[in-house]
Amino acid sequence: MITTPSGRDDSKSYLVRAMSEDGRVLALACVTTDLVARSARRHRTSPVAAAALGRALTGGALLASLLKEGQGLAVKFEADGPLGKIVVEAERNGCVRGYVQNPGADVPDRGGKLDVSGALGINGFLTVLKDLGLKEPCQGIVRLRSGEIAQDLAYYLLESEQIPSAVALGVYVESEGRVSAAGGFLVQSLPPPDPETVERIASRLEAMPPVTTLLREGKTPEDLFRDIFSEIPFRILETQPLTLRCSCSRSRIERVLLSLGADELKEMLEEQGEAKVNCHFCRIAYRFNREELEELIGRIA
Ligand SMILES: [Zn+2]
Repeated sequence: MITTPSGRDDSKSYLVRAMSEDGRVLALACVTTDLVARSARRHRTSPVAAAALGRALTGGALLASLLKEGQGLAVKFEADGPLGKIVVEAERNGCVRGYVQNPGADVPDRGGKLDVSGALGINGFLTVLKDLGLKEPCQGIVRLRSGEIAQDLAYYLLESEQIPSAVALGVYVESEGRVSAAGGFLVQSLPPPDPETVERIASRLEAMPPVTTLLREGKTPEDLFRDIFSEIPFRILETQPLTLRCSCSRSRIERVLLSLGADELKEMLEEQGEAKVNCHFCRIAYRFNREELEELIGRIA
């Protein structure tokens, strides 16, 4: 069933939404240190995989916060680097989960920093699949711009949704591999465009130190807004806890098995005498013994 007792350990991970008083600029900021650290431990990531997965989890949480209640999305980065694909699912209610295909993959540092784009690769695609509660999910695909995750998400928002946005994501991994800071922010200019405000905010953002530096100084998402908006008046709209939580269940895994078809299940039964399926997101193993597999095959036939 659910992987952990409801995100108690993530109580410090949260996201805050704010808007300029004139309603022209929406800003979201979050701290995700606990959530990313737990995910990295669960997937036994290399330091660079922790940084990449952590950025993707944080970016997914920010993107999902742009949705409406009850909606969710999946973000997939797939390129030619050793990490393979990174998949994150995030819901508007703050639940997120994710995995990286090759969590142990490693690449040398570049300029004294973890080389996320070297590990993910640059030749590839970012796919965003939104479940808006309609019949079909709504899908957007863009080519990766930098492989650094944040710029790629900003490019997606501009290219696929025509919303000029700035996205900053950061994960700090200590030399022993522990994630000690993670978080990010997303700033959007809402229509009608107001070039002057956008300009002022853009120059603020350029002058800001990296997110991880700010978080390691002990700054909160609320503090980040003071840096982002500066002298522009703003108000906090909402504060929401973020939780690392999987949506897998035995019945969902059953549906996956059923979709394989009777022949494949019979083969599993003959060769292994059982079926063992690991959830990619939380690594929980689901076992189906002989009787259970036979029952599933019976349902297809
Ligand atoms: Zn799971």
